[in-house]
Amino acid sequence: MADRDGKIWMDGQMVDWRDAKIHVLTHTLHYGCGAFEGVRAYNTVNGTAIFRLQEHTDRLFNSAKILRMQLPFTKDEVNQAQIDVVKANKLESCYLRPLTWIGSQKLGVSPKGNQIHLMVAAWAWGAYLGEEGMQRGIRVKTSSYTRHHVNITMTQAKAVSNYSNSILANMEALDDGYDEALLLDSAGFVSEGAGENIFVIKDGVVYTPDLSAGALNGITRNTVLHICKDLGLDLVQKRITRDEVYIADEAFFTGTAAEVTPIRELDRVQIGSGSRGPITEKIQSAFFDIVNGRNPKYAHWLTKV
Ligand code: PMP
Repeated sequence: MADRDGKIWMDGQMVDWRDAKIHVLTHTLHYGCGAFEGVRAYNTVNGTAIFRLQEHTDRLFNSAKILRMQLPFTKDEVNQAQIDVVKANKLESCYLRPLTWIGSQKLGVSPKGNQIHLMVAAWAWGAYLGEEGMQRGIRVKTSSYTRHHVNITMTQAKAVSNYSNSILANMEALDDGYDEALLLDSAGFVSEGAGENIFVIKDGVVYTPDLSAGALNGITRNTVLHICKDLGLDLVQKRITRDEVYIADEAFFTGTAAEVTPIRELDRVQIGSGSRGPITEKIQSAFFDIVNGRNPKYAHWLTKV
C-alpha cells in the first residue's frame, strides 16, 4: 500500500504517495486517539462524484469533537481536500480515507501541546465483502467479543481506537471460516458488524438496532432509512436479539465499504431462503441507483469532482 504512485493530501499539501510518512513517536500510534472517515466516490451517469461528502465531513468533525481534538482546517477545506485527492489520482470511482491524528511533539498520555494533523488518501476499491457476497449474501458469525459500551469508548466517534474491537471480531470470524462478524452490545443485544450496520426484515417490516446499542450512526444506514420511506416500507429502530436475526426473513449489512451486502447465514443458521431476499434486493438496487446518480431526488447527495 505504501509503495505506489499517486498523491496524498497531508496537512494542506499534496505529497507523493511514498513520501506521506509520520514519525514513530506519533501520539495516536501509541494511544489510539484519532478519528477517520470512509467515503466513496462513484463513476455516476454525470461523471465522478463523492457520495454524501458533507455528511462524512460533518461526522469527522463530530468524531474530533468527541475526542477533544481541534481540527486545524475548516469543513470546506476538508471537503475540497477530498475532491482534490480524487482528481490528483485521476480516479473515476474510489474509496477515500480522511484521517486525523495527534502529532509527535510529546508522548505523555495528555495530548496537550501536540499538533493535530489531517490527511486524505484515495484508491480504487471494489465490493468490500466480495462481488459474490453482494448477490448470494455472506456468512456471518456472532462474535465472542462484545461491542464497545457507550461509556467506555465513544461509539458515535469513528475513533481509531474503536477498531481494535472490530479487528479482533473480524479476525475471529474469518479464522472460523465466516465472511464477517456480528457484535452484540454489553447487554447482549445486536449492535453492528465489525465495519457495518445491520438490518433484518420480518413479515415485510425492516428493523435496525437503535443507536443506544453502541452502533455507529452509519451514513449508509441513514441512506437506507430514506430508501425504506421511498419504497413505503415500515422501518423500526429497536433492540434486536440474536435469535431475531436467526428467524428473520432477510438480513443485510450496510456501510460505505460494504454498501448493501445481504447476509445469508448467522452462526450456520440459514436466514430466510439462504440467499439475497426480495426486499433486500429492492433496497440494494435503490441504493445503487442513488450512488450512481440515477435517482434525481438525491442528486444533492453527490458532489461532482
Ligand atoms: N459501523 C462501523 C463500526 C463502521 O466502521 C462503519 C463503516 N464506517 C459503519 C458502521 C457504517 O457506516 P457508514 O455507512 O457511514 O460507512
